[in-house]
Formats: sequence, structure tokens, C-alpha cells
Amino acid sequence: MLKVDDIDVYYGNIQALKGLSLEVNEGEIVTLIGANGAGKSTLLQTLSGLQKPKRGSVEYLGESIAGKAAQSIVKAGISHVPEGRRVFANLSVEENLDLGAYLRKDKEGIAKDLAHVYELFPRLLERKKQQSGTLSGGEQQMLAMGRAIMAKPKLLLLDEPSMGLAPLMVQNIFTIIETINKEGTTILLVEQNAHMALSVANRAYVLETGKIVLAGTAKELQESDEVRAAYLGGL
Ligand code: ATP
Repeated sequence: MLKVDDIDVYYGNIQALKGLSLEVNEGEIVTLIGANGAGKSTLLQTLSGLQKPKRGSVEYLGESIAGKAAQSIVKAGISHVPEGRRVFANLSVEENLDLGAYLRKDKEGIAKDLAHVYELFPRLLERKKQQSGTLSGGEQQMLAMGRAIMAKPKLLLLDEPSMGLAPLMVQNIFTIIETINKEGTTILLVEQNAHMALSVANRAYVLETGKIVLAGTAKELQESDEVRAAYLGGL
């Protein structure tokens, strides 16, 4: 479904991604784990059209999308939930969700997906009139995910959905990630919480300073000494 081949991405003179290649197949949950500054967010930004690779290719459903406008990438079925759950703070929960569907015209489909988002996140239904900036961190994460689902993505890019959340909420978010995947959405999940990410993923990549240093099934990585020492706290 997605094939990233040998991409270099720079911020001015700083090279954030160095010949990075990875693949995501339809139906998978693939996770990319790595420390702060490894380049995880940069990769997702490149996939959603916010950064342009200087070299290499990005193919999605057989078409090149490297350097395409963000809007046409959303239209093609890729939704990005950025780090730090950026919601429109002055708008209500429901207004934020409506905005997620701004490129869609199928009114019935939109209404059905809105009802489904409220089913996945009952808390959002309770709070649908609340100004989004006053939601708790976990609720804002739900809203950011709900908004992305409203775009009806084929591929969902999630940037550190567990960041700053209490353990129970982390568990809740990961259960929902698995549900969304079972319903047919392919997921590329960027996480520092390697333990949780590997527990839901089919396959995983480890990113260090802009390069993939390890790849395998989630199980292989969970059992790898290197991953255990560096990312699973020696577990
Ligand atoms: P974190 O887990 O801390 O969010 P990350 O793996 O997502 O980290 P990126 O945010 O992709 O890492 O950053 C990769 C590198 O690119 C870092 O060295 C970072 O300082 C640099 N970088 C990111 N954004 C910019 C920018 N706008 N201008 C210059 N350098 C940047």
C-alpha cells in the first residue's frame, strides 16, 4: 500500500532522514519506534505532504505522492494525527469532527461516520458541544483521532498517540487503534512507548538518527536484545 524508498529529508542543512526505506501493506498495523529526535515525526510529515524529500520516492497505492499537496494526499486516503493532538481549541468537539470531513461530499456517509466516532469515543458524544481547548489531554487525543477518522482514511498515520496520557487512557487509545484496524483501516503508528506499540503491531521498524536500524515482525523486535535494552527498559 505504501512504499517509501531511500528518502532523504532536510531542514536547511540538517538531515533528518537518511536514506530511509519502509513498507506498509494493506490491513497492517506497522509501528516505527525510536528515541526523541530520531526523525519519526519528520517521516509522517513527509508522508502527508508537509515535508518534501530531496531524494528517494514515496509510493502510495502505486502512485508517487512525494511532494504532493497535503490536501490531495488527504483526498487520496491518508489521514495524519499529528503529535500534540492539535485540535481547533476555539471550536466545539462536533465542529472539529465536522472539519475532519471537509473534503467529503457524501452527506450520508459523513453522518454514519460521525455516529461511529461517537460509538468509538462515547466521551466525545457527552462533550460534543464543549469547546475543544477545555478538554483533557486524553479527550483531545480522542478528538484528534476522531477527526482523522472523519476523513475516511485508508491509511491512518498516528504520531505518538500515548504521549502524556495516564496508563488507563493509554490502554484505551491502543484498544481503539486495534478496533479501527480491524474495521479495515491500515495504520502506521509512531511511538516512543515501544512496549504498547509492539503489543498491537504486526511489524515494526526501529529508527535511529534518521536511519532504520532494525526491522521485523513485532514479535521478533519484542524478543530482540537490542530493542529490549534500548526501548523496553531492559524488560
Ligand atoms: P520526538 O519523539 O522527540 O518528537 P522525532 O523522532 O519525531 O522526535 P523529529 O521531530 O522528526 O523527531 O526530528 C528529527 C530531527 O529533525 C531532530 O534533530 C530535530 O531537531 C530536527 N527538526 C525537526 N523539525 C525541524 C525544523 N522545523 N527545523 C529544523 N530542524 C528540525
